[in-house]
Amino acid sequence: MNASFRAIPSVDAVLRSSAGVLAVERFGRVEATSRIRDLLDAERDAIAKGAAPRNAEGIAAMAFAVLEAASARSLRPVFNLTGTVLHTNLGRAVLAEAAIEATVDAMRGAVALEYDLATGGRGERDDHMRALICELTGAEDATLVNNNAAAVLLVLNTLAGHGGGAVVSRGELIEIGGAFRMPDIMARAGARLIEIGTTNRTHEKDYKAGLAQEGVSLILKVHTSNYRIEGFTKEVDATVLARLAGEAGVPLVNDLGSGTLIDLALWGLRREPTVREAVAEGADLVTFSGDKLLGGPQAGFIVGRKDLIAAINRNPMKRALRVDKLRLAALEATLKLYRDPDRLAERLPTLRLLARSRDDIATLAKAILPRAAAAVGATYDVVATDCASQIGSGALPLDTLPSAGISFRPVDGSGGALEWLATALRGLPIPVIGRITEGALVLDLRCLEEADRFADNLDGLAHGLA
Ligand SMILES: *Cc1c(COP(=O)(O)O)cnc(C)c1O
Repeated sequence: MNASFRAIPSVDAVLRSSAGVLAVERFGRVEATSRIRDLLDAERDAIAKGAAPRNAEGIAAMAFAVLEAASARSLRPVFNLTGTVLHTNLGRAVLAEAAIEATVDAMRGAVALEYDLATGGRGERDDHMRALICELTGAEDATLVNNNAAAVLLVLNTLAGHGGGAVVSRGELIEIGGAFRMPDIMARAGARLIEIGTTNRTHEKDYKAGLAQEGVSLILKVHTSNYRIEGFTKEVDATVLARLAGEAGVPLVNDLGSGTLIDLALWGLRREPTVREAVAEGADLVTFSGDKLLGGPQAGFIVGRKDLIAAINRNPMKRALRVDKLRLAALEATLKLYRDPDRLAERLPTLRLLARSRDDIATLAKAILPRAAAAVGATYDVVATDCASQIGSGALPLDTLPSAGISFRPVDGSGGALEWLATALRGLPIPVIGRITEGALVLDLRCLEEADRFADNLDGLAHGLA
């Protein structure tokens, strides 16, 4: 055993071996030395238990493998084949090429972020977007923050932050997912919630009663994005709310959630109220997301009355919630695509994917089917199948889009084989995320645009099975 201990190489010897030199080159001296020390400690323990000693080259090769595994990206690109186009857990909207180019330019160098190129004086970050947003929404003024949750928080804090009353229908006290619950946000914003009406029915008289209370600062209307109340229901029209708010001398705030800029019915989707309509209905402020139906990066828009936007910009919280140059660059490029609606579906991935026809997707499924079947072998019955996609991110929650995909059903019907496949797909070089339904794993191909890359990636499964 003493001879074995003496055979343990020194740290220096491991660093000088060919794998050691490579490890230093790739991961740096500090990391390489530290991993080698760890492995040498483990080597001493192993030898004490009777293991045969490894040479310097062997230890260095192990260190290299450990370092390589640890350097793999954590935030990895995946194939989203869940059928949910705007999947919050998978990063929502995929950006347009124009937005990607603008972002890369903004990353590479200095940009005139808060600098007025005409005068050489100080500019404002909102200057880049204000005119464009107003042009697309018909609003008087606009500002941007980190996301729509921040937009709602900032609006409530600015207009009602000192315990001012915010009148909201009980049918609109929503939870968006995670920790975004309207009553909680309201409390954190310093506003006082005045609940009116009932879950299913809220009338004009309920709003009037709410507005008659002491210290009301605003009416808040919230788009019930991720659920729908059907049957015996009643809500009050935004135009009526605008009139009531005007009579009471308080602003009407409309949190649209997804907030689309165009009529989606043009592409066969269900009509959603557009931001322009919400502004025209008389809302004093409208808030909406950048990375939902709009198809841009994460951001929160606040559009509406000039005096209110000015008050929002004076709120010190605005600074804490502001958008960085990268997202501003991506947003400007994304919004500019809306100036040409004829080519929007071609250029904006979110719309392109949502508008994709079932036939188009089915053709793709047929083309990929043989390679998919070959990749998993005879354990699974692999067929092209019809399926239903969803928009996601709370937009049109009950609507589905006819789609197509590939279904993998274990021949022996075992749940274990299904779980194994789902895990193996997630373990591919580019992880593939599908959906398990009714005893089969389904890959909805609506969001697949790189078919060859996908098929090459799937071949990795065959290696796993072999
Ligand atoms: C999604 C949503 C939010 C939150 O928007 P984020 O951009 O995700 O922060 C707020 N309100 C409504 C109605 C929503 O649908």
